[in-house]
Amino acid sequence: MRKIILSAAAFTMLFSCQNDENTPVAPSTEAIALRNCATQEVLEAQLKADPTLALRMNQIEAFTQKAMLTKRLVNGKIVIPVVVNVLYRTAEENISATQIQSQIDVLNKDFTAKNSDFSSIPAEFAGVAANIDITFELAGIVRKSTTKTSWGTRDAMKSSKKGGIDPTTPTKTLNIWACKIGGGILGYAQFPGGSLATDGVVIDSKYFGLSASNSYPYNLGRTATHEVGHWMNLRHIWGDSSCGNDLVSDTPVAKTANYGVPAYPYVSTCLPTHNEMTMNYMDYTDDRGMYMFTNGQKSRITALFVSGGARSGFGI
Ligand SMILES: [Zn+2]
Repeated sequence: MRKIILSAAAFTMLFSCQNDENTPVAPSTEAIALRNCATQEVLEAQLKADPTLALRMNQIEAFTQKAMLTKRLVNGKIVIPVVVNVLYRTAEENISATQIQSQIDVLNKDFTAKNSDFSSIPAEFAGVAANIDITFELAGIVRKSTTKTSWGTRDAMKSSKKGGIDPTTPTKTLNIWACKIGGGILGYAQFPGGSLATDGVVIDSKYFGLSASNSYPYNLGRTATHEVGHWMNLRHIWGDSSCGNDLVSDTPVAKTANYGVPAYPYVSTCLPTHNEMTMNYMDYTDDRGMYMFTNGQKSRITALFVSGGARSGFGI
Protein backbone atom coordinates (compact mmCIF):
# COMPACT_ATOMS: atom_id res chain seq x y z
CA MET A 1 0.00 0.00 0.00
CA ARG A 2 1.27 3.43 -0.72
CA LYS A 3 1.36 6.52 1.34
CA ILE A 4 -1.42 8.97 0.55
CA ILE A 5 -0.34 11.98 2.56
CA LEU A 6 2.29 14.03 0.81
CA SER A 7 4.19 16.92 2.23
CA ALA A 8 3.46 20.25 0.57
CA ALA A 9 6.92 20.25 -0.96
CA ALA A 10 6.53 16.77 -2.40
CA PHE A 11 3.13 17.68 -3.74
CA THR A 12 4.42 20.78 -5.46
CA MET A 13 7.11 18.64 -7.03
CA LEU A 14 4.49 16.17 -8.21
CA PHE A 15 2.64 18.93 -10.01
CA SER A 16 5.65 20.88 -11.16
CA CYS A 17 7.67 18.43 -13.15
CA GLN A 18 8.30 19.90 -16.54
CA ASN A 19 9.19 18.05 -19.62
CA ASP A 20 9.38 19.70 -22.99
CA GLU A 21 8.52 16.42 -24.66
CA ASN A 22 5.22 16.59 -22.82
CA THR A 23 4.09 19.92 -24.21
CA PRO A 24 0.54 19.59 -25.51
CA VAL A 25 0.47 18.68 -29.13
CA ALA A 26 -0.37 20.98 -31.95
CA PRO A 27 -3.09 19.74 -34.29
CA SER A 28 -2.04 16.92 -36.56
CA THR A 29 -3.31 13.59 -37.74
CA GLU A 30 -1.81 10.27 -36.85
CA ALA A 31 -2.91 6.66 -36.67
CA ILE A 32 -3.77 5.31 -33.22
CA ALA A 33 -1.83 2.31 -31.98
CA LEU A 34 -1.73 2.62 -28.18
CA ARG A 35 -4.05 4.47 -25.83
CA ASN A 36 -2.73 7.96 -25.30
CA CYS A 37 -4.37 10.40 -22.90
CA ALA A 38 -2.94 13.92 -22.81
CA THR A 39 -4.32 14.94 -19.42
CA GLN A 40 -1.01 14.91 -17.53
CA GLU A 41 0.85 16.71 -20.32
CA VAL A 42 -1.85 19.38 -20.48
CA LEU A 43 -1.65 19.80 -16.69
CA GLU A 44 2.12 20.23 -16.83
CA ALA A 45 1.77 22.91 -19.50
CA GLN A 46 -0.94 24.70 -17.48
CA LEU A 47 1.26 24.63 -14.37
CA LYS A 48 4.06 26.19 -16.37
CA ALA A 49 1.76 28.94 -17.67
CA ASP A 50 -0.03 29.67 -14.37
CA PRO A 51 1.98 29.54 -11.12
CA THR A 52 -1.21 29.88 -9.05
CA LEU A 53 -2.63 26.57 -10.35
CA ALA A 54 -0.28 24.43 -8.23
CA LEU A 55 -1.43 26.34 -5.15
CA ARG A 56 -5.11 25.78 -5.96
CA MET A 57 -4.49 22.10 -6.62
CA ASN A 58 -2.54 21.75 -3.37
CA GLN A 59 -5.49 23.29 -1.53
CA ILE A 60 -7.90 20.86 -3.22
CA GLU A 61 -5.60 17.99 -2.30
CA ALA A 62 -5.40 19.09 1.34
CA PHE A 63 -9.20 19.39 1.43
CA THR A 64 -9.56 15.95 -0.17
CA GLN A 65 -7.21 14.29 2.30
CA LYS A 66 -8.96 15.96 5.24
CA ALA A 67 -12.45 15.03 3.98
CA MET A 68 -11.31 11.42 3.59
CA LEU A 69 -9.77 11.30 7.06
CA THR A 70 -12.81 12.79 8.75
CA LYS A 71 -15.19 10.78 6.55
CA ARG A 72 -17.15 13.96 5.98
CA LEU A 73 -18.43 12.59 2.72
CA VAL A 74 -21.84 12.67 1.14
CA ASN A 75 -24.34 9.86 0.96
CA GLY A 76 -26.79 11.69 -1.28
CA LYS A 77 -27.12 11.14 -4.98
CA ILE A 78 -24.94 13.15 -7.29
CA VAL A 79 -26.36 13.65 -10.78
CA ILE A 80 -24.08 15.41 -13.23
CA PRO A 81 -25.71 17.39 -16.07
CA VAL A 82 -23.68 16.93 -19.25
CA VAL A 83 -23.50 19.20 -22.28
CA VAL A 84 -21.84 17.64 -25.31
CA ASN A 85 -20.18 20.10 -27.69
CA VAL A 86 -19.74 18.56 -31.14
CA LEU A 87 -17.28 20.13 -33.59
CA TYR A 88 -17.40 18.50 -36.98
CA ARG A 89 -15.81 18.82 -40.41
CA THR A 90 -17.06 15.52 -41.79
CA ALA A 91 -20.40 13.75 -41.47
CA GLU A 92 -18.65 11.05 -39.45
CA GLU A 93 -17.43 13.62 -36.91
CA ASN A 94 -20.98 14.96 -36.55
CA ILE A 95 -21.86 12.12 -34.19
CA SER A 96 -25.53 11.32 -33.77
CA ALA A 97 -27.67 11.97 -30.71
CA THR A 98 -27.97 8.19 -30.39
CA GLN A 99 -24.21 7.83 -30.18
CA ILE A 100 -24.03 10.67 -27.67
CA GLN A 101 -26.67 9.00 -25.51
CA SER A 102 -24.72 5.73 -25.76
CA GLN A 103 -21.78 7.52 -24.11
CA ILE A 104 -23.98 8.82 -21.30
CA ASP A 105 -25.27 5.27 -20.83
CA VAL A 106 -21.71 3.89 -20.60
CA LEU A 107 -20.78 6.53 -18.01
CA ASN A 108 -23.88 5.67 -15.99
CA LYS A 109 -23.03 1.98 -16.00
CA ASP A 110 -19.33 2.41 -15.25
CA PHE A 111 -19.87 4.92 -12.42
CA THR A 112 -22.55 2.77 -10.74
CA ALA A 113 -20.82 -0.61 -11.10
CA LYS A 114 -23.57 -1.76 -13.46
CA ASN A 115 -21.15 -2.48 -16.29
CA SER A 116 -21.53 -6.07 -17.45
CA ASP A 117 -17.81 -6.79 -17.03
CA PHE A 118 -17.82 -5.70 -13.37
CA SER A 119 -18.21 -9.41 -12.58
CA SER A 120 -14.82 -10.06 -14.22
CA ILE A 121 -12.96 -8.32 -11.39
CA PRO A 122 -10.50 -10.82 -9.85
CA ALA A 123 -11.34 -11.95 -6.30
CA GLU A 124 -8.16 -10.27 -5.09
CA PHE A 125 -9.58 -6.84 -5.99
CA ALA A 126 -13.31 -7.47 -5.50
CA GLY A 127 -13.17 -6.18 -1.92
CA VAL A 128 -12.05 -2.71 -3.00
CA ALA A 129 -14.18 -2.47 -6.16
CA ALA A 130 -16.45 0.56 -5.91
CA ASN A 131 -19.83 1.73 -6.99
CA ILE A 132 -19.02 5.45 -7.36
CA ASP A 133 -22.78 6.10 -7.25
CA ILE A 134 -22.73 9.14 -9.52
CA THR A 135 -24.97 9.36 -12.56
CA PHE A 136 -25.00 11.55 -15.66
CA GLU A 137 -27.84 13.22 -17.50
CA LEU A 138 -27.63 14.65 -20.99
CA ALA A 139 -28.55 18.33 -20.62
CA GLY A 140 -27.91 19.45 -24.18
CA ILE A 141 -25.99 19.05 -27.41
CA VAL A 142 -24.27 22.00 -29.10
CA ARG A 143 -23.10 21.49 -32.68
CA LYS A 144 -20.79 23.58 -34.84
CA SER A 145 -19.27 22.88 -38.22
CA THR A 146 -15.61 23.66 -38.75
CA THR A 147 -12.93 23.49 -41.39
CA LYS A 148 -10.30 22.35 -38.89
CA THR A 149 -8.93 18.87 -39.60
CA SER A 150 -7.70 18.48 -36.00
CA TRP A 151 -7.81 20.49 -32.77
CA GLY A 152 -4.76 19.41 -30.75
CA THR A 153 -4.67 19.64 -26.95
CA ARG A 154 -4.33 23.40 -26.42
CA ASP A 155 -8.03 23.88 -25.62
CA ALA A 156 -8.94 25.71 -28.86
CA MET A 157 -12.10 23.58 -29.11
CA LYS A 158 -13.30 25.19 -25.86
CA SER A 159 -13.22 28.76 -27.15
CA SER A 160 -15.59 30.34 -29.67
CA LYS A 161 -12.88 32.94 -30.38
CA LYS A 162 -10.67 30.10 -31.59
CA GLY A 163 -13.41 28.51 -33.65
CA GLY A 164 -14.58 26.17 -30.91
CA ILE A 165 -17.56 26.17 -28.54
CA ASP A 166 -17.49 27.94 -25.17
CA PRO A 167 -18.47 25.73 -22.20
CA THR A 168 -22.01 25.91 -20.82
CA THR A 169 -22.17 26.88 -17.08
CA PRO A 170 -19.09 24.88 -16.06
CA THR A 171 -19.72 25.42 -12.33
CA LYS A 172 -22.61 22.98 -12.53
CA THR A 173 -22.30 21.24 -15.87
CA LEU A 174 -19.80 18.74 -17.18
CA ASN A 175 -18.86 19.90 -20.67
CA ILE A 176 -17.61 17.26 -23.07
CA TRP A 177 -16.18 18.26 -26.44
CA ALA A 178 -16.32 15.72 -29.24
CA CYS A 179 -13.92 16.62 -32.04
CA LYS A 180 -10.93 15.36 -33.98
CA ILE A 181 -7.96 15.82 -31.63
CA GLY A 182 -5.09 14.36 -33.69
CA GLY A 183 -1.57 13.48 -32.57
CA GLY A 184 -2.65 9.98 -31.53
CA ILE A 185 -4.60 11.40 -28.58
CA LEU A 186 -7.87 9.68 -27.63
CA GLY A 187 -8.90 12.30 -25.08
CA TYR A 188 -7.86 14.60 -22.28
CA ALA A 189 -9.39 16.19 -19.21
CA GLN A 190 -8.80 19.13 -16.93
CA PHE A 191 -8.33 18.39 -13.24
CA PRO A 192 -10.32 20.29 -10.59
CA GLY A 193 -8.65 23.64 -9.87
CA GLY A 194 -8.10 24.71 -13.46
CA SER A 195 -9.74 27.61 -15.27
CA LEU A 196 -13.53 27.39 -15.60
CA ALA A 197 -13.23 28.53 -19.21
CA THR A 198 -11.49 25.27 -20.10
CA ASP A 199 -13.14 22.93 -17.58
CA GLY A 200 -14.37 19.62 -18.90
CA VAL A 201 -13.15 16.75 -21.01
CA VAL A 202 -12.35 16.28 -24.68
CA ILE A 203 -12.95 12.99 -26.46
CA ASP A 204 -11.95 12.32 -30.04
CA SER A 205 -15.22 11.81 -31.94
CA LYS A 206 -13.96 8.47 -33.27
CA TYR A 207 -13.80 7.08 -29.72
CA PHE A 208 -16.98 8.67 -28.41
CA GLY A 209 -19.64 6.36 -27.00
CA LEU A 210 -20.28 2.96 -28.44
CA SER A 211 -18.45 3.79 -31.60
CA ALA A 212 -17.93 2.06 -34.91
CA SER A 213 -16.01 -1.17 -35.06
CA ASN A 214 -13.19 0.58 -36.93
CA SER A 215 -12.24 2.31 -33.68
CA TYR A 216 -11.55 -1.02 -31.94
CA PRO A 217 -10.06 -1.54 -29.32
CA TYR A 218 -11.34 1.84 -28.03
CA ASN A 219 -14.95 1.41 -29.12
CA LEU A 220 -16.72 0.80 -25.81
CA GLY A 221 -16.86 4.37 -24.49
CA ARG A 222 -14.19 3.87 -21.85
CA THR A 223 -12.06 6.80 -23.03
CA ALA A 224 -14.74 9.04 -21.52
CA THR A 225 -14.91 6.96 -18.33
CA HIS A 226 -11.13 7.43 -17.94
CA GLU A 227 -11.23 11.17 -18.74
CA VAL A 228 -14.20 11.86 -16.47
CA GLY A 229 -12.16 10.03 -13.81
CA HIS A 230 -9.46 12.69 -14.26
CA TRP A 231 -12.08 15.45 -14.22
CA MET A 232 -13.08 13.98 -10.86
CA ASN A 233 -9.50 14.27 -9.58
CA LEU A 234 -8.22 10.75 -10.28
CA ARG A 235 -4.63 10.24 -11.38
CA HIS A 236 -3.25 7.59 -13.68
CA ILE A 237 -2.87 4.36 -11.76
CA TRP A 238 0.94 4.43 -12.10
CA GLY A 239 1.09 8.00 -10.73
CA ASP A 240 2.69 9.23 -13.97
CA SER A 241 6.09 8.03 -12.83
CA SER A 242 7.85 4.70 -12.38
CA CYS A 243 6.12 2.87 -9.49
CA GLY A 244 4.57 6.28 -8.75
CA ASN A 245 1.88 7.45 -6.36
CA ASP A 246 -1.69 8.00 -7.60
CA LEU A 247 -2.72 9.42 -4.18
CA VAL A 248 -5.03 6.44 -3.61
CA SER A 249 -4.21 3.83 -0.97
CA ASP A 250 -6.10 0.81 -2.32
CA THR A 251 -4.74 0.77 -5.87
CA PRO A 252 -1.56 -1.34 -5.97
CA VAL A 253 1.62 0.42 -7.10
CA ALA A 254 2.14 0.08 -10.85
CA LYS A 255 5.41 0.31 -12.77
CA THR A 256 3.98 2.22 -15.71
CA ALA A 257 1.00 2.29 -18.06
CA ASN A 258 -0.33 -1.09 -19.17
CA TYR A 259 -1.67 -1.62 -22.68
CA GLY A 260 -3.88 -4.13 -24.44
CA VAL A 261 -5.62 -6.59 -22.12
CA PRO A 262 -3.00 -8.00 -19.73
CA ALA A 263 -3.72 -11.51 -18.45
CA TYR A 264 -4.40 -11.72 -14.72
CA PRO A 265 -2.36 -12.01 -12.58
CA TYR A 266 -0.04 -9.34 -13.92
CA VAL A 267 2.89 -9.36 -11.51
CA SER A 268 4.34 -5.92 -10.90
CA THR A 269 8.05 -5.25 -11.16
CA CYS A 270 7.61 -2.71 -8.34
CA LEU A 271 8.50 -4.17 -4.94
CA PRO A 272 7.32 -5.76 -2.73
CA THR A 273 5.92 -8.36 -5.11
CA HIS A 274 2.23 -7.89 -5.89
CA ASN A 275 -0.22 -7.93 -8.78
CA GLU A 276 -1.10 -4.75 -10.66
CA MET A 277 -4.73 -3.66 -11.02
CA THR A 278 -4.60 -3.44 -14.80
CA MET A 279 -8.40 -3.49 -15.02
CA ASN A 280 -8.71 -0.09 -13.33
CA TYR A 281 -10.25 2.62 -15.53
CA MET A 282 -7.25 4.85 -14.84
CA ASP A 283 -4.79 2.52 -16.58
CA TYR A 284 -4.15 2.62 -20.37
CA THR A 285 -5.57 -0.77 -21.29
CA ASP A 286 -8.02 -1.41 -24.13
CA ASP A 287 -11.65 -0.53 -23.48
CA ARG A 288 -12.54 -4.18 -22.80
CA GLY A 289 -9.59 -4.47 -20.39
CA MET A 290 -10.77 -1.76 -17.92
CA TYR A 291 -13.82 -2.21 -15.71
CA MET A 292 -13.35 -0.97 -12.14
CA PHE A 293 -12.77 1.96 -9.81
CA THR A 294 -11.79 1.45 -6.16
CA ASN A 295 -13.18 2.69 -2.84
CA GLY A 296 -10.11 4.90 -2.45
CA GLN A 297 -10.79 6.49 -5.82
CA LYS A 298 -14.42 6.95 -4.80
CA SER A 299 -13.32 8.82 -1.67
CA ARG A 300 -11.23 11.24 -3.74
CA ILE A 301 -14.15 11.81 -6.08
CA THR A 302 -16.71 12.25 -3.34
CA ALA A 303 -14.59 14.86 -1.55
CA LEU A 304 -15.05 17.14 -4.58
CA PHE A 305 -18.80 17.35 -4.15
CA VAL A 306 -19.16 18.06 -0.43
CA SER A 307 -19.63 21.58 0.87
CA GLY A 308 -16.36 23.42 0.26
CA GLY A 309 -15.23 20.88 -2.31
CA ALA A 310 -13.89 21.92 -5.71
CA ARG A 311 -17.04 20.76 -7.51
CA SER A 312 -19.60 21.51 -4.79
CA GLY A 313 -21.56 23.57 -7.35
CA PHE A 314 -22.87 20.26 -8.69
CA GLY A 315 -25.43 20.18 -6.02
CA ILE A 316 -24.94 18.19 -2.82
ZN1 LIG B 1 -5.46 9.74 -18.61
